[in-house]
Amino acid sequence: MWGKKAIPKEVIKIHEQRYKDLKAGGKTKDHIANQANAGSTKWRNRRWATLIIINLLFVISFQFDMQLVEGSLTASRFIGFHMADPYAAMQIGLAFGQVILNLVIGTLTVVFIYLIVGGRAFCSWVCPYHLVSELAEKIHLRLTKKKLVKNRPFNINTKYWLWGIFLIIAFVTGYTAFEMLSPLGILSRALIYGPGIGILWVLFLLLVEIFYSRRIWCKNICPIGVTYRFIGIFSLTKVVYDISGCHHDGACRTACLVPHVLDFTKPGKAPRLHDNYVGGDCTNCGMCVDICPTDSLKFDIRFVNKLF
Ligand code: SF4
Ligand code: SF4
Repeated sequence: MWGKKAIPKEVIKIHEQRYKDLKAGGKTKDHIANQANAGSTKWRNRRWATLIIINLLFVISFQFDMQLVEGSLTASRFIGFHMADPYAAMQIGLAFGQVILNLVIGTLTVVFIYLIVGGRAFCSWVCPYHLVSELAEKIHLRLTKKKLVKNRPFNINTKYWLWGIFLIIAFVTGYTAFEMLSPLGILSRALIYGPGIGILWVLFLLLVEIFYSRRIWCKNICPIGVTYRFIGIFSLTKVVYDISGCHHDGACRTACLVPHVLDFTKPGKAPRLHDNYVGGDCTNCGMCVDICPTDSLKFDIRFVNKLF
């Protein structure tokens, strides 16, 4: 019943009590009281503010020739420090068969930063497509609630195939083909230098996400997100789950872009009392932390928290 891993007795006891609660009609008084505190937008507000400020910095630096941040989110210099999107750097290396020192320095800097703040934190805290896609998701959810559209989920593993395919294309053709399709690159350049024809592609993607499949690009396609996911496996800042107060209402999973990382919040799934950390696909968006009525999900800095 509890899977192959040895699950501590105290955790089994909690799981069994929850099963009894659920069987007896579900929610306890505590849970109902806590529900009133759920639905905060604290992390979402912080995240949107950060994302807008970062993207505005690029725009202002270019418009006023301030040389604070030069370039775009694909490759930039921040007060003289090189930054490069790791997936773009890999494509360039494979397409041109060269190791460009500034690109290597920029990539290592970015990898170091996201090893600390969380791999896919780039997605939800920096990428402009994430913001517009989140807004499109709200429309999609309203339409699905009214039964006007139906969500068609895709296989979560498609993105790994595409990650490899675009690298092979770069190597074989000598072109960084994915960069032409990346809504992140298109939007970042559009904000800084003005929109081009690529903006139509972004609009098309948003329409697909509204009418066909919820958040399909970030969830099932984008190889940039996959690269940050690999970094995220090892990153320090992660959402952690504590089972002791959880009532398994599943609100966190309904809010999450990648709900499979929260599978341990389902009844009987958590292997530990504390220290259940989410996987690399998590974007550190904080939606689950905001929505959880029992404070069972929190941000945590792994390893470092044990030092103090
Ligand atoms: S998955 Fe790609 S497009 Fe989506 S937020 Fe991450 S980098 Fe941006
Ligand atoms: S687990 Fe939480 S923080 Fe991570 S992506 Fe899902 S909702 Fe966002």
